[in-house]
Amino acid sequence: MLNLVLFGPPGAGKGTQSQKLIEKYGLIHLSTGDLLRGEISQGTKLGLEAKKLMDEGALVPDAVVIGMISNKLDANKEAKGFIFDGFPRTVAQAEALDSLLESKQSAISGMIALVVNDDELEHRLLLRGKDSGRPDDANPEVIRKRIKEYNDKTAPVADFYQAQHKLKSINGIGSIEDIFGAITGIIQSY
Ligand code: ADP
Repeated sequence: MLNLVLFGPPGAGKGTQSQKLIEKYGLIHLSTGDLLRGEISQGTKLGLEAKKLMDEGALVPDAVVIGMISNKLDANKEAKGFIFDGFPRTVAQAEALDSLLESKQSAISGMIALVVNDDELEHRLLLRGKDSGRPDDANPEVIRKRIKEYNDKTAPVADFYQAQHKLKSINGIGSIEDIFGAITGIIQSY
């Protein structure tokens, strides 16, 4: 199986590159952000609880996202592999993902981190907020809170994979095609 963690701060381009990767490799795309927004639009209890935190730029509890990912892994037993996008976002989530995959005799193939500086992120997210309709993209204060949550809680996840010799970082500034080329180059090496 090819199990890829696409990593990077909000606005780094994970969603864009994921779309191209699923086309090329036939992988299942698991974005916890998309799954949570799906719960919100269906008006579920989980969605209602998550919405408050998401609108503030805070992370939703680990147990919630781990449960969603576990369900998706069970529902896609025949998959060739997965792209994890926006997950794991804490070290506890990364540990849980390792256990979930291990129980299926599988593992993470590697993490690819997209590196983009904070100023560029803020600029991209505000721009995206103009037509994405995402409340968390529309407000500069919420954007800064999300970047802070990333630096405090999510950046350590890169160290977790580095310790397993699974981390590769690439420049997330450049053309979509060039960045995609860098990612596929790394995937060929797995
Ligand atoms: P972005 O990467 O642009 O911040 P996402 O769509 O990945 O957007 O996430 C939007 C929001 O959903 C996050 O700010 C957070 O509140 C919540 N969220 C998504 N994934 C997770 C996760 N793995 N753990 C906790 N919260 C999450």
